Amino acid sequence: MPGVPTIETTLAAFAKRELTPAEHTAQTLTAIEQLEPQLNAFLEVFNAEGRAAAAQPKKGRLSGIPVAIKDIICTTEGHTSAASKILQNFRSPFDATVVQKLRAEGAIIIGKTNCDEFAMGASNEFSAFGPVKNPWDTSRVAGGSSGGSIAAVASGEVLAALGSDTGGSLRLPASFCNVVAVKPTYGRVSRHGVIAYASSFDQVGPAARTVRDAALLLEIIAGHDPYDATSSPEPPGAYLAACGQSVAGLRIGLPKEFFSQEVDGRIQETVLTAVKELEKQGAQLIEISLPLAPMAVPTYYLLVKSEASTNLSRYDALRYGELPKITAGNLLEHYRAARSHFGPEVKRSILMGTYALSAGYIEAWYKQASKVRTLMRQEFTNAFAEVDVIAGPVSAEVAFPLGEKTDDPLAMYLADLLTDPASVAGLPALSVPAGFVDDLPVGLQLIAPHFTEERLFQTAHAYEQSQEWWQMMPLLH
Ligand code: GLN
Repeated sequence: MPGVPTIETTLAAFAKRELTPAEHTAQTLTAIEQLEPQLNAFLEVFNAEGRAAAAQPKKGRLSGIPVAIKDIICTTEGHTSAASKILQNFRSPFDATVVQKLRAEGAIIIGKTNCDEFAMGASNEFSAFGPVKNPWDTSRVAGGSSGGSIAAVASGEVLAALGSDTGGSLRLPASFCNVVAVKPTYGRVSRHGVIAYASSFDQVGPAARTVRDAALLLEIIAGHDPYDATSSPEPPGAYLAACGQSVAGLRIGLPKEFFSQEVDGRIQETVLTAVKELEKQGAQLIEISLPLAPMAVPTYYLLVKSEASTNLSRYDALRYGELPKITAGNLLEHYRAARSHFGPEVKRSILMGTYALSAGYIEAWYKQASKVRTLMRQEFTNAFAEVDVIAGPVSAEVAFPLGEKTDDPLAMYLADLLTDPASVAGLPALSVPAGFVDDLPVGLQLIAPHFTEERLFQTAHAYEQSQEWWQMMPLLH
């Protein structure tokens, strides 16, 4: 197979009988075995199950393709731990809807990927099972919280993975590691069987090497689910068909707040070079302003930590969660012991969220943030009256060194400076490889109106075709 392998080229090789799914799965397992000591991207690998499934894969659009699944997504194989000590022995009795959909198309579920505990974090250093390393420089973070899924794709361990994005968890690591990843519109993809962080933000999305591969994966996992009342009845779009459509006449908005002095000038340059490429293809670049965008981080954190504090109350070792080793004398002691399994960011979330929701403070914090959320949504809607797509950087900086922000929660929160705006507004957004700064990858972020993921794929594909960044692979052995 010439060039960097993708899902599409691998399916073509299967069709031509140059490669069998069993051989491909064996190669995948070998790559995982070789690279894991450097990356820590997987929490569990389904060796025997994977090989057995690959011997006679189900027919479908992903027949014989191994897919890695973020460990907050329930699978009947192995454990689903949310990278937390409190769930380390949890086995799900059912598959999440997204996993059922992948299996129905013949995908091989190959393992569970590392992530920040309960998807809380921006660097993947808050996993209870060690950080994920960036395949481009293993002294740096992969980005979080879906760092395992992204590093697995970036390093070539797998061609496809699912992650989740609450406030940037797919886009940020994708930008740090040279991968395509998509956060769909809130409600586009079922959350049934996905361990909740912040229920009004969480969305599952795909990670892959190319825009077309990501489009294929989203076509498969998107759609209404009777088991998720917040999933939209609106039918999914034709995402693959959108790849290849011309961007001539497309109006691309560049928010000046996304090119502020907080953003590394070389990253700004890289992103501007990328959008100018789209301009060459006939798109129109329009400077816009989103004055509320700088409010996204505080608004986001007040809301998600409030939701997290209520979502996490079920882990009391009575309903869910590891029983404490000591026998507690009374209920309070039991709770204390059970919940001591949580790591530092999860504890911080519970404290912050409980505070923001408590009597006397709820008006000032949670309700105020909810109002700002409505205004931010409106601001984007107004902007989309003038432009079709919004473009900007994903991150203000390239992948940072391991340990740099773990003791500074505010610095860690600010890592989502440019991803939180789309999350607060529930909009679809993606990251596509756009170049390198200091030999580290930089992603271009595209944001579109609700339920118009097609525009993201159209624009990202047009850009991807014009350059070769997506083919760059890190040199790991
Ligand atoms: N860094 C953000 C947080 O901790 C985003 C995480 C995510 O998208 N899951 O909330």
